[in-house]
Amino acid sequence: MADKNKPKEPVCGFCGATPSMKKNVPFVPSGCFDGLAICGDCLKRGNLALESFAGKAARPEPKAPLKVPTPAEIKAELDKYVVGQEQAKRVLSVAVHNHYRRIQLQRGGAADAYADVELDKSNVLLLGPTGSGKTLLARTLAKFLDVPFAISDATTLTEAGYVGEDVENILLRLYQAADGDMERTQIGIIYIDELDKISRKSENPSITRDVSGEGVQQALLKILEGTVANVPPQGGRKHPQQECLHIDTTNILFICGGAFVGLDKVISRRCNKQVLGFEEETDPAAANSAEQAAESSPFTLCRPEDLVRYGLIPELVGRLPVFAALEPLSLDELVRVLTEPKNSLIRQYTRMLALEGVELDFTPGALKKLAAECLERGTGARGLRALLEKLMLNVMFDAPSGSGTRKCVIDERAVESGEAKIVSVKRPSARK
Ligand code: ADP
Repeated sequence: MADKNKPKEPVCGFCGATPSMKKNVPFVPSGCFDGLAICGDCLKRGNLALESFAGKAARPEPKAPLKVPTPAEIKAELDKYVVGQEQAKRVLSVAVHNHYRRIQLQRGGAADAYADVELDKSNVLLLGPTGSGKTLLARTLAKFLDVPFAISDATTLTEAGYVGEDVENILLRLYQAADGDMERTQIGIIYIDELDKISRKSENPSITRDVSGEGVQQALLKILEGTVANVPPQGGRKHPQQECLHIDTTNILFICGGAFVGLDKVISRRCNKQVLGFEEETDPAAANSAEQAAESSPFTLCRPEDLVRYGLIPELVGRLPVFAALEPLSLDELVRVLTEPKNSLIRQYTRMLALEGVELDFTPGALKKLAAECLERGTGARGLRALLEKLMLNVMFDAPSGSGTRKCVIDERAVESGEAKIVSVKRPSARK
């Protein structure tokens, strides 16, 4: 129970923060109202507004400088960490560039010939099997752009008032990732995983309440589009008497992802219907596209109506205008995942063992064998880590205990038997 005698913390009347939420920021108490204050962050913003008003600074410098790289630069960065997924990388690079360009224009005051044209926000939907790199793409983007990033799982969310998490908690996580900096929070990136799991149970509007499906979709609508959300600072449920943080989601980029198991059938059914001429709208390209779909991921042919048929409400689909399909990783791509990315698993193990004086070497056959085993499990690249952890356990156990120059060569046989060994290497004598 709360201690009634404990003095109440002052609350910033502008952003709703308290001193315990912003540890290194001063709070200036109000002279008139008990418990009311203004925090240092809001004071700074007020100062900028005053300076701008007085004409001293026609364009106030934004507190969080915004990096707006070109789509090509964004893609080049994604290439360093993510193998394959060319189309998804291109779509994301353009969407992210446009998003931050739009914020930059808002901040700087548009001086171009089309200044009165408002640019819409374009949240992104990533469709692809598990372990194909959806989260990795979103995380790599946030790191490169130097903006706060938070991941949320749609399956934990429920409609307000029911057991589970409120949708606003997603925003709180971003605020925490930005260390309580409201300005940075409001230009961050949120990745919402497993969006497919909140699809409604039937295509027709539900008679019984669907609190973890349609209810969550309805709640997500507002924050995805852009609203000032009231977020309880300590998380949990909103309480009528509780002071809330006011987070404006207009410039937060939402990237949603999901495996959408079964969506391929919805898409092929539509394509086949069109091929057979059962639908009024006959698409001459449909026959070709159905064949294409069979070859690559059918998700590349996804249309908004397929997602509605799958169980997303049309309003939510409308707020995710950019789609990108991720392909299941092939055997060759899994081999590349092991070795190519800047922080690939093999590079990580090589570094860790080098610290113990052990040189690590994987033969091409071993890499292929690992990738093949992973492919069999159907977990995408996600399964590689588990396989390697098991294979390398003894090596990692023994490495710190030995001394001298040592080597660990992992070949196909070692992968098959699951036994990798460290051997000592004799240095060739310097003189005869
Ligand atoms: P999901 O698509 O389920 O969100 P993740 O992005 O979480 O998959 O991938 C899990 C792990 O698998 C990542 O941390 C990464 O190590 C690896 N991975 C998955 N896809 C790729 C890829 N295309 N390139 C490089 N690594 C990948």
